[in-house]
Amino acid sequence: MGEGRQVAVNTTAHSSNAEGKLINSFYRCLGIARGRAEKLQQMTHVIEEFEATLCEEEEDGAAENAKRVIMEAYYGVLAPETIKVHPPTVVKTKGSCKRMKSAKEVALTAQVKKNRTCKTCGLASGHNSRSCPQ
Ligand SMILES: [Zn+2]
Repeated sequence: MGEGRQVAVNTTAHSSNAEGKLINSFYRCLGIARGRAEKLQQMTHVIEEFEATLCEEEEDGAAENAKRVIMEAYYGVLAPETIKVHPPTVVKTKGSCKRMKSAKEVALTAQVKKNRTCKTCGLASGHNSRSCPQ
Protein backbone atom coordinates (compact mmCIF):
# COMPACT_ATOMS: atom_id res chain seq x y z
CA MET A 1 0.00 0.00 0.00
CA GLY A 2 1.82 3.07 1.17
CA GLU A 3 4.99 1.04 1.41
CA GLY A 4 7.71 1.45 -1.13
CA ARG A 5 6.95 5.04 -1.89
CA GLN A 6 10.28 6.58 -2.55
CA VAL A 7 11.26 10.15 -2.49
CA ALA A 8 14.10 10.52 -4.92
CA VAL A 9 15.71 13.59 -3.52
CA ASN A 10 19.39 13.71 -2.93
CA THR A 11 19.32 15.98 0.04
CA THR A 12 23.05 16.26 0.48
CA ALA A 13 23.58 17.45 -3.08
CA HIS A 14 20.98 20.18 -2.81
CA SER A 15 21.24 21.18 0.79
CA SER A 16 23.93 23.80 0.25
CA ASN A 17 21.94 25.32 -2.60
CA ALA A 18 18.73 25.24 -0.58
CA GLU A 19 20.51 26.74 2.37
CA GLY A 20 21.92 29.49 0.21
CA LYS A 21 18.45 30.25 -1.12
CA LEU A 22 17.06 30.38 2.39
CA ILE A 23 19.82 32.66 3.59
CA ASN A 24 19.36 34.91 0.57
CA SER A 25 15.64 35.32 1.04
CA PHE A 26 16.10 35.78 4.76
CA TYR A 27 18.53 38.63 4.23
CA ARG A 28 16.42 40.12 1.45
CA CYS A 29 13.44 40.26 3.79
CA LEU A 30 15.60 41.52 6.62
CA GLY A 31 16.93 44.25 4.37
CA ILE A 32 13.40 45.32 3.45
CA ALA A 33 12.14 45.11 7.03
CA ARG A 34 15.16 46.83 8.54
CA GLY A 35 14.17 49.90 10.52
CA ARG A 36 10.48 48.98 10.38
CA ALA A 37 9.60 47.58 13.77
CA GLU A 38 6.27 46.20 12.59
CA LYS A 39 7.80 44.29 9.67
CA LEU A 40 10.61 42.95 11.81
CA GLN A 41 8.07 41.77 14.34
CA GLN A 42 6.06 40.09 11.59
CA MET A 43 9.15 38.35 10.28
CA THR A 44 10.13 37.14 13.72
CA HIS A 45 6.62 35.86 14.25
CA VAL A 46 6.63 33.88 10.99
CA ILE A 47 10.02 32.37 11.70
CA GLU A 48 9.11 31.50 15.26
CA GLU A 49 5.92 29.86 14.07
CA PHE A 50 7.87 27.82 11.55
CA GLU A 51 10.38 26.89 14.22
CA ALA A 52 7.53 25.63 16.37
CA THR A 53 6.27 23.39 13.55
CA LEU A 54 9.77 22.01 13.06
CA CYS A 55 10.00 21.09 16.72
CA GLU A 56 6.57 19.49 16.56
CA GLU A 57 7.60 17.32 13.64
CA GLU A 58 10.70 16.22 15.41
CA GLU A 59 8.76 15.19 18.47
CA ASP A 60 6.30 13.27 16.30
CA GLY A 61 9.13 11.42 14.64
CA ALA A 62 10.71 10.62 17.96
CA ALA A 63 7.41 9.31 19.30
CA GLU A 64 6.93 7.10 16.21
CA ASN A 65 10.43 5.73 16.54
CA ALA A 66 9.86 4.95 20.19
CA LYS A 67 6.59 3.14 19.36
CA ARG A 68 8.30 1.06 16.69
CA VAL A 69 11.10 0.07 19.04
CA ILE A 70 8.56 -1.06 21.63
CA MET A 71 6.61 -3.04 19.00
CA GLU A 72 9.77 -4.71 17.83
CA ALA A 73 10.75 -5.59 21.35
CA TYR A 74 7.32 -7.11 22.14
CA TYR A 75 6.52 -8.92 18.92
CA GLY A 76 9.94 -9.39 17.42
CA VAL A 77 8.71 -8.02 14.11
CA LEU A 78 9.06 -4.80 12.29
CA ALA A 79 6.15 -2.51 12.89
CA PRO A 80 4.64 -1.16 9.70
CA GLU A 81 5.65 2.38 8.98
CA THR A 82 2.82 4.76 9.44
CA ILE A 83 2.52 7.10 6.54
CA LYS A 84 1.45 10.43 7.79
CA VAL A 85 0.23 13.06 5.42
CA HIS A 86 0.60 16.48 6.87
CA PRO A 87 -1.37 19.27 5.29
CA PRO A 88 0.99 21.98 4.12
CA THR A 89 1.77 24.39 6.88
CA VAL A 90 0.50 27.82 6.06
CA VAL A 91 3.47 30.05 6.44
CA LYS A 92 3.63 33.20 4.42
CA THR A 93 7.12 33.25 3.03
CA LYS A 94 7.95 33.41 -0.63
CA GLY A 95 6.66 36.43 -2.47
CA SER A 96 4.64 37.88 0.34
CA CYS A 97 7.17 40.68 0.76
CA LYS A 98 6.72 41.75 -2.84
CA ARG A 99 2.96 41.46 -3.01
CA MET A 100 2.18 43.28 0.19
CA LYS A 101 0.94 46.80 -0.46
CA SER A 102 1.71 49.52 2.00
CA ALA A 103 -1.13 51.54 3.52
CA LYS A 104 0.03 54.51 1.46
CA GLU A 105 -0.17 52.49 -1.74
CA VAL A 106 -3.64 51.24 -0.93
CA ALA A 107 -4.85 54.74 -0.18
CA LEU A 108 -3.32 56.03 -3.40
CA THR A 109 -5.05 53.36 -5.47
CA ALA A 110 -8.36 54.14 -3.82
CA GLN A 111 -7.91 57.84 -4.52
CA VAL A 112 -7.16 57.26 -8.18
CA LYS A 113 -10.32 55.19 -8.45
CA LYS A 114 -12.36 57.84 -6.69
CA ASN A 115 -11.10 60.69 -8.85
CA ARG A 116 -11.80 58.98 -12.13
CA THR A 117 -14.19 61.08 -14.17
CA CYS A 118 -17.40 59.75 -15.60
CA LYS A 119 -17.52 59.73 -19.40
CA THR A 120 -21.22 60.50 -19.51
CA CYS A 121 -21.46 63.55 -17.26
CA GLY A 122 -17.81 64.41 -16.73
CA LEU A 123 -18.11 64.46 -12.95
CA ALA A 124 -15.48 62.85 -10.73
CA SER A 125 -17.86 61.71 -8.04
CA GLY A 126 -16.87 58.07 -7.77
CA HIS A 127 -19.10 56.63 -10.45
CA ASN A 128 -18.55 55.71 -14.08
CA SER A 129 -20.63 55.93 -17.22
CA ARG A 130 -22.29 52.63 -16.42
CA SER A 131 -23.42 53.67 -12.96
CA CYS A 132 -24.09 57.27 -13.99
CA PRO A 133 -27.25 58.61 -12.35
CA GLN A 134 -28.00 60.84 -15.34
ZN1 LIG B 1 -21.87 60.39 -14.64
